[in-house]
Formats: sequence, C-alpha cells, structure tokens
Amino acid sequence: MPFVLSLDEGTTSARAALYNQKGERIAMCAEPFECRFPKPGWVEQDAFGLWDAQLRAAHALFERTGIAPKDVSACGITNQRETTIVWDRATGKPIAPAIVWQCRRTADFCAELARSPYGALIQKKTGLVVDAYFSASKIKWILENTRDGHAMANDGAILFGNVDTWLIWNLTHGEVHATDFTNASRTMLMDLNAGAWDNELLGIFGIPRVMLPEIKPSSGRFGAIAGEIFGAEIPISGVAGDQQAALAGQACFRAGLSKNTYGTGCFALTHSGDKRPHSNANLLATRAASLNETAQFAVEGSVFVAGAAVQWLRDSLGLISTAAESESYAASVPDSAGVYIVPAFVGLGAPHWDASARGIITGLTRAATRAHIVRATLESIAYQSRELIDAMEADAGEPIRELRVDGGAAVNNFLMQFQADILGKPVVRPVDVETTSLGAAYLAGIAEKFWSGVDEVESFWRVERRFEPKMAEDQREALLQGWRSAVARARVSS
Ligand code: ADP
Repeated sequence: MPFVLSLDEGTTSARAALYNQKGERIAMCAEPFECRFPKPGWVEQDAFGLWDAQLRAAHALFERTGIAPKDVSACGITNQRETTIVWDRATGKPIAPAIVWQCRRTADFCAELARSPYGALIQKKTGLVVDAYFSASKIKWILENTRDGHAMANDGAILFGNVDTWLIWNLTHGEVHATDFTNASRTMLMDLNAGAWDNELLGIFGIPRVMLPEIKPSSGRFGAIAGEIFGAEIPISGVAGDQQAALAGQACFRAGLSKNTYGTGCFALTHSGDKRPHSNANLLATRAASLNETAQFAVEGSVFVAGAAVQWLRDSLGLISTAAESESYAASVPDSAGVYIVPAFVGLGAPHWDASARGIITGLTRAATRAHIVRATLESIAYQSRELIDAMEADAGEPIRELRVDGGAAVNNFLMQFQADILGKPVVRPVDVETTSLGAAYLAGIAEKFWSGVDEVESFWRVERRFEPKMAEDQREALLQGWRSAVARARVSS
C-alpha cells in the first residue's frame, strides 16, 4: 500500500504524518521545540533545533506505524512562514538564530519605511503591508548584524531560506535551494503578479539575489529526500506555507472559499482564484497554492497572538496546566464578568497593523477569578477573528456564509461556540483539523498522480461538527462594544 508523507514544521512543534489513498491520516507524530525571547518583542528559534525536531518526528512516525519509507510515494512540506534563516552554503551552519515571524526587532525600521514613498510601492508590488512580520527586514537585520554579512551574501557564501527552504536543503543534503510561490510571497521580495524576485525590492532592503532560493509551483518535483535519511529516496513534491497549505487541506481550491486556522496565531484566508485581490481594509494579498505555473491568489488576515495567549496562561501565569484545561475553566462561568484581555504582546496585526500596541486586561473587579481570565483569553481569540472576517466581507462586498476552522485550538468547543455566537454565523469543523499537514500531502500526492487532482481530494472533506450561532443580537453587540473599547486602550497604552 503506498502512502504520502507530510512534514509540518509549525511554530511550536514539528509534525510528521502519513496519509493513505483515501486521504485518511494513518498516524501523526509531533516533537515540540522552543522559542526564545531574548528581549521584549524579540522571538528566536534554533534552526538546527527545528531540523532535528522534524527528523525525530518523521523517524518516530516510521517506527510507530511500521510503514517502510520505500512505500512512500511523495513527501509534502509545510512550514511556519516568514521565519528567516541564513546559513553558510559550504558548511550548512546557520550564521544567526532563526528570526521567528512574530519577532518585532525590525519594527522601527519598517515603520519608517512604511511612511516613506517606498511604503506604497512595496504594498503595490507585494500585496503586503510593510511590517516587521515579513522576511525582508529580518534578512537585512542579519546581514547588518553579522561581521562581513553583506560581503558573504554578495559572494554567494551564505544563503537565505524560510523554514521550507531550510528543510529542503537539509533533506537533499544541500542539493536543492528552492521555495514555492506561497512562501516567496511572504518575503516582501517577490513581485506578487510576476511570481519572481524583484530587483527594486531587493535594492530597498540591500539583499543580493544570489542568496535567494529558486521559486517553484507548490505542487511539483522539488528534489528527493536523500536515501540515507530514512532508508529510501522519497520525492519532495509539494511545498506550501502553513496557511496556504491549510486552505488546500480544507479543500478550498476555488474562489470564494474561506477558512480560519487557530494556532499560535489566527489566520483567515479566502481563495481569490486567478485574480489578485485588492484590499481596502488592510488585508494582505498573497499567493494560494498553485498546481502549475498559473498564479493563484488569496486574501489573508492574520492575528499574531491567538493560541499563544493560551500558552501564556499556562507557561507565564500558571493559571492552567494544559491548553485543553482552558475549555473547562471558561465553561465554568456564564460570562467573563466584564473582563477583556487584548493579547497584543507583539503589537496588533490585521486590520489594525499597530506594532506599538501592547497587551492589556480591562474590566477587572474583585469578582474576577481565574476562570474569568481564562475565559476572556479564549474570547479574545474569537473577537480578533471576527475583526478579520468583518474586513474580508467589507472587501469582498458580500457576506461569508460560514467559516471552516482548523488548527490546534479549534478542538476547543467553548471557543468554537463562542466564535459562532460572536460572528453570528455557523462555524464548521472538519473531521481532520490537521489541515495544514493534509494540504501539504494533497499538493505532493497530486503532483505524483497519487491522487487524480483537485476533484478527488475535495471529495475527502467531511464535517465533524457545526456550531450554530445562539447568541442574541443585542448581547453580541454589547460584547463587541466592550471589545472595541479594550482594543482602543491597548493601542494608547503603549
Ligand atoms: P502552530 O502550528 O502555530 O504551532 P497548532 O495548530 O499546533 O499551532 O496549535 C497550537 C496552539 O493551540 C498553541 O498555542 C496552544 O496553546 C493552542 N491550543 C492547543 N490546544 C488547545 C485547546 N484545547 N484550547 C485552546 N488552545 C489550545
């Protein structure tokens, strides 16, 4: 029996999964890894730590299932996007820690750039709002803060990659330096329409083209995993950034279909087909996974801190001992007792794009308990997602009928019901919520003719649970009013 392997390197863990011909997940293994926070607003990871965790997850998967690597027809890769790694071409050693997408170290530079005449030009070319979130300013920072950084980059002695490129490089023993259109569209160095690195953008950030990977369609051959790694060569045939992979895994391959992923951050994407979207609401235009050279687009809104706020409750405040426990605490009280938490730990993403906002708790009284704080934290995830959906609807000029959901925090039934209530729309959770991993498998499997195409994988999508909105309109409006005023305070509190 043949299988497809998916390698999914998220922000908190590396996962490996195997899928059968019916698109069913046979098994998944995960290996967690750490983020470091060396200064306020800075977020780093160890690049070798990411690679090592990914390898351990895949080895554990083969061991646990007993499936032989020679029976794997294709491998798909999906990854936390924007995270920036620069390494030595000759030794394969990173020259700096990986700068994680959430890191704000280049926020001042980006704010200045956004205000300059280049701000509008960058937005027009890349579809992105100028922000520290994307890779370009992170690469610039590494080149400027490494001795001889620019000289080594110009000589082709060091290479840049996002996490996908870093994994491909290591899996092919340094033979392939490549990325796909979805990841490249998040660097702020690619012309979104042309799908190519852009000289003017490279000039603005002072980044030489020789250090950048080749850009390829998301579904197609990238190379092969070296035989020594798992004991058999496996073609790498699908690559997409995590959110675009999740869009594919939710079977959203056509214009108008939307999903929201609840992971470390929250990411809502709506497929726009082959037409580049233009946002009036500060959302991003980005590439969706493509099966060939024809460009596919999506509109995207992201919240920087969602599930990460639950981690904060667990790891920094010690209010819960597991993320799952947040559900029973939240459900143990009828409401948040007027408490709002705006988890703007690294500023606010779409639609505010306010790098200087900081987290805030409002409405505390002596009646507030641990359960209220936990509940308010989960509610903040739903409020932030509502802001994204509002912006998407304003841009599209038509309402989104229902929201397909996935990601680690989408298993939380309290959160999903509150999301439906606060949206006033049904929230639909599929049987397989690991859609990121599934989407990468689809892209690889379609490329290797393991599956016949989009129609076949669309037929695999199944609903596990629908959450219907139950909240009265006036209650929803009152809660939203409270949220808006908390956000306004988070924005002036910085
Ligand atoms: P990523 O891909 O960004 O690493 P995941 O999709 O694996 O993230 O989701 C992990 C996030 O989901 C963590 O931030 C965690 O706190 C949160 N999470 C996991 N389980 C739950 C739960 N039952 N309720 C709320 N949040 C959860």
